[in-house]
Amino acid sequence: MKVIDHIQQAKETLISFEILPPLKGKGIQSLYQHLDQLVEFKPSFINVTYHRSEHVFKKKFDGTFEKVVVRKRPGTESICAAIMNKYNVDTVPHLICGGFGINETEDALINLHYLGIDNVLVLRGDAAKNESSFEPEPGGHKYAIDLLKQVNNLNAGIYLEEDLKNSSKTKFCIGVAGYPEKHFEAPNMESDLRHLKAKVDAGADYVVTQMFFDNEKYFSFVKACREMGITVPIIPGLKPVYTKKQLTVLPKTFHIDLPTPLSEAVQACKTDQDLEKVGEEWLLQQSKELKKAGVPVLHYYTLGRPQIVANVVKELV
Ligand code: FAD
Repeated sequence: MKVIDHIQQAKETLISFEILPPLKGKGIQSLYQHLDQLVEFKPSFINVTYHRSEHVFKKKFDGTFEKVVVRKRPGTESICAAIMNKYNVDTVPHLICGGFGINETEDALINLHYLGIDNVLVLRGDAAKNESSFEPEPGGHKYAIDLLKQVNNLNAGIYLEEDLKNSSKTKFCIGVAGYPEKHFEAPNMESDLRHLKAKVDAGADYVVTQMFFDNEKYFSFVKACREMGITVPIIPGLKPVYTKKQLTVLPKTFHIDLPTPLSEAVQACKTDQDLEKVGEEWLLQQSKELKKAGVPVLHYYTLGRPQIVANVVKELV
């Protein structure tokens, strides 16, 4: 079932989770153990992220180097299908522009369609580790909106091979990313919102936000979106804090702020258990306030400590 149908049919705020594919070589069992703690809360859908392959230079016997592709977290499409099969929950694979040519993207979409997956979250992806700024593949998509248009085309039965006759239409529900604290490359919020509106005008069914730790950031973002004419559901993305390291890693990686009371409370913790309690309580208060405000879905980034997310959701239902 499509995410947008879940939202339209819901009588109250829904729950959804986001997971990462396991690191290459780890097997899928650890992922199932992770999900076993979460599925009892009946998530409406589970997102599975996509991680672009990275290159390493490997020394050969003759002393020269060869460029080797390492895909560190393969399996987004198959994990989505496996989750649907094992837990009977809808899934949302993330699809990115980076590292993909348009033919590979089309093949990925056809695979998803055959697997009965009706949802995609379309994203640009970040620059590769060796790039200073995002570079599309030759002939690949530069922005998420370009990828979105390719999905739209397939939904209309328009494939890259123009002379395909009587081609089957896909029926993807399309989500896009939004940034309550602005995307780091955008010169200002106004410009970022204009690009978000363009994605929605081009057919995005809903927006999922980058994580935030101050609900006021989300409320202001939604207000600005509505004023700009963005009317689709805006799903808040939430994550628990559970290590002191996150106080520097999260702002650096995701270009977000951590409110002073949260960072001070984390700094004051003496044990890991204290820290988890602080993170859990903060996430619970955020969730309660957002639920009270009538958000369509509470979307949890569950990497790291699914138990914290499970404890929070238990308090909410
Ligand atoms: P875009 O919408 O293309 O925007 C990128 C930047 O370009 C923005 O600054 C925007 O303002 C600007 N822009 C957009 N269109 C134009 C235009 N036409 N002209 C000029 N500027 C323009 N990354 C992954 O690799 N894998 C994942 O699974 C993943 N999941 C994510 C899930 C969520 C909910 C979020 C919020 C992010 C996720 N990301 C993921 C990270 C995301 O790929 C990065 O934040 C990336 O830098 C931007 O992606 P986007 O889809 O927002 O890009």
